[in-house]
Amino acid sequence: MTRVVVLGAGFGGLELTTILSDAFGDAIDIVLIDKSDAFVFGFAKLDVMFGRRMPAAIRHPYRDIVKPGVRFLQSAVRSIDPSARRAVTDAGTFDADVLVVALGADLDPAATPGLVEGGHEFYSVAGAVALRDVLQRFERGPAIIGVTGKSFKCPPAPSETALLLHDYLTERGRREATDIAVVMPFGTPIPPSPDTSRAILAAFAERGIKFVKDNLVRALDTGRKVAVLSDGTEMPYELFLGVPVHRVPAVVVESGLAVDAFGWVPVNKKTLETSFPGVYAVGDVNGVGTPKAGVFAEGAARVVAAAIIAQIRGGASPGPYNGAGSCYVEFGHDQVGRVDVDFLSGPKPTGTFQEPSAALVAEKLHFGSSRLQRWFGNLPAGMTR
Ligand SMILES: Cc1cc2nc3c(=O)[nH]c(=O)nc-3n(C[C@H](O)[C@H](O)[C@H](O)COP(=O)(O)OP(=O)(O)OC[C@H]3O[C@@H](n4cnc5c(N)ncnc54)[C@H](O)[C@@H]3O)c2cc1C
Repeated sequence: MTRVVVLGAGFGGLELTTILSDAFGDAIDIVLIDKSDAFVFGFAKLDVMFGRRMPAAIRHPYRDIVKPGVRFLQSAVRSIDPSARRAVTDAGTFDADVLVVALGADLDPAATPGLVEGGHEFYSVAGAVALRDVLQRFERGPAIIGVTGKSFKCPPAPSETALLLHDYLTERGRREATDIAVVMPFGTPIPPSPDTSRAILAAFAERGIKFVKDNLVRALDTGRKVAVLSDGTEMPYELFLGVPVHRVPAVVVESGLAVDAFGWVPVNKKTLETSFPGVYAVGDVNGVGTPKAGVFAEGAARVVAAAIIAQIRGGASPGPYNGAGSCYVEFGHDQVGRVDVDFLSGPKPTGTFQEPSAALVAEKLHFGSSRLQRWFGNLPAGMTR
């Protein structure tokens, strides 16, 4: 029986194991390994920080996975030997015929001087939970949503955060007492989609939110309460919401699959296979050239799953990975927009925008619930997610 070991049960790992389980049922041996006990959608962190959902409600425990052929193991991956297709975890060593690395990106708030001491991050669950209280107490002064590293998950997230912060402070009657600014390393909020960027910039202009382009926040001077940008500009802050530096997980760098903490795993752009036969890198951990987002991890997982199915059944190889995906964008005012981006099939990335609407709010909800249903399988009667 083919042994597939999947490291990481995020968007990529869950999508891949679901497709393989649907195709083979008990006739495949899949081990899905994650150090965490529950899956959390990235966008749910915004819901938590702005008090729209309780922290417990966004956790989807892996123990609920009911998928023939799939064994979930909660354990930390300590080392990976790609030439032997072997992973060593706290719960033992696993040898594979096919090894899929889907460990995502690690966050490193400490890489930005002053961020841990004087700012906040909203990219981890702990950071989002802590911000619930911080935001409730925030009364006045400049608020900055700042990106601190060039490569980061979900490029729309800083803009969404600014728009949701505007609504949150307006509802609390504190908006007049604050300024909101977004610092990003791009020239526009969503470079592949000029229409989406225009809509976001128009929403910023309407709400008095400042967009600081082509810059990173390099440090916070916590004594003077200023953020120091990559071009040397200083911006005063009272509230700093940071997107931390992202790194290739150390266990992946140590395995030789990546050259260093910022060298995302090189893969064949069409197949997602690494330079080691039978070893694939899916999702945020790879350097295929798509943004770091769940929808791209999911698309990559589909291509790898099709390749594994073809290998086992002896069928034709799947078509190449196209780097396409749809992202929902929170615009505030209870509206969600959508951008469909395609990174790899044409000569340059393209994006198509759908105007914010209440219908897209419902579509985003369905996006989440349908994935939980598919990835976790049937729930015991009476249980809801
Ligand atoms: C605020 C925010 C908003 C977002 N909004 C969206 C959105 O609207 N749409 C969208 O598509 N994407 C969004 N994203 C991005 C999305 O969450 C990620 O890009 C996506 O989860 C990447 O999937 P992945 O499978 O590559 O990695 P992940 O989902 O990060 O999964 C990696 C898994 O590996 C595990 N792991 C890591 N190291 C180890 C180890 N050593 N041992 C064992 N397990 C380990 C982790 O616990 C994790 O479960 C958002 C992200 C954030 C932070």
